[in-house]
Amino acid sequence: MSAQLINGKEIALALREELAAELAFKKYRPYLAVVLVGNDEASLIYDRNKQKAALAAGMDCDLHHLPEETTEDDLLDLIGRLNGDDNIHGVMVQLPLPKHINGRRIIEAICPEKDVDGFTPQNAGRLLLKDERAIVSATPAGILHLLKTVHQNLSGLHAVIIGRSNIVGKPLASLLLNQDCTVTVIHSKTVNPKEITRQADILIAACGCPKMVKKDWVKEGATIIDVGINRIDGKLCGDVDFDDVCDKAAFITPVPGGVGPMTIAMLLRNTYQAYLALKK
Ligand code: NAD
Repeated sequence: MSAQLINGKEIALALREELAAELAFKKYRPYLAVVLVGNDEASLIYDRNKQKAALAAGMDCDLHHLPEETTEDDLLDLIGRLNGDDNIHGVMVQLPLPKHINGRRIIEAICPEKDVDGFTPQNAGRLLLKDERAIVSATPAGILHLLKTVHQNLSGLHAVIIGRSNIVGKPLASLLLNQDCTVTVIHSKTVNPKEITRQADILIAACGCPKMVKKDWVKEGATIIDVGINRIDGKLCGDVDFDDVCDKAAFITPVPGGVGPMTIAMLLRNTYQAYLALKK
């Protein structure tokens, strides 16, 4: 058996087109503000791509690119202004921030109703409490969307998540619990991880360890979502050894072209959600 690909690139494109069609006849446009501090090349490319995608979907989007030496107070001032501007519906600050800036303090300054990354304590808490006002961070939201393309009903399935970060593992655990999955989270201190991953109907790898997940980590017929973005000799790869597990899994996301494209699509969806809630 060879696993069927879950094509994140196509699914994300369809979502973006759907959003563009919905926005085409709106009188007002959702407005996203992206804030980047410093000169990290990868972040700059990523944020320009977000801006391009937002404009293509019929939104407005500013990229506030600030110099590396920007102070925490100056950044807080900018966030305060974006929070107070009624024309702006989504505010996101690209992480990681330079070392002299306290990232937690910055994220907590974003108005929760405009926090389209879903990183504020209010949105993380609302997700945990299954409060429908939650803005769910884009990568976990994208993963759930991908899962729903191959599983009509997630209830009762055992989902094992490798990784417990605040931006992927933990919100994803809440999201899947809210779908009635049985959720296990494993991490760098877990003893004998493959004993656990072998029980997974759905296995999600988000640990940043290139090709760590091999065939003997996988249950026959499992669905595998590979969140990892790593490079080996300059070539992109995930946390899953794709070729090794392919004949054991039923469904699998490729890297690139799986989870990655979903993140921007869901960020745009979150901006639209924020816009609708703020316009009420
Ligand atoms: P992180 O470094 O914040 O967290 C990694 C997690 O993996 C930690 O909880 C750690 O305990 C766990 N871990 C590390 N080594 C492990 C091991 N050997 N066994 C089990 N668990 C282990 O990373 P993150 O921000 O959550 O990102 C994880 C990966 O996903 C990275 O490769 C990152 O680039 C990628 N990522 C992709 C997207 C996307 O849009 N596709 C978005 C976010 C992150």
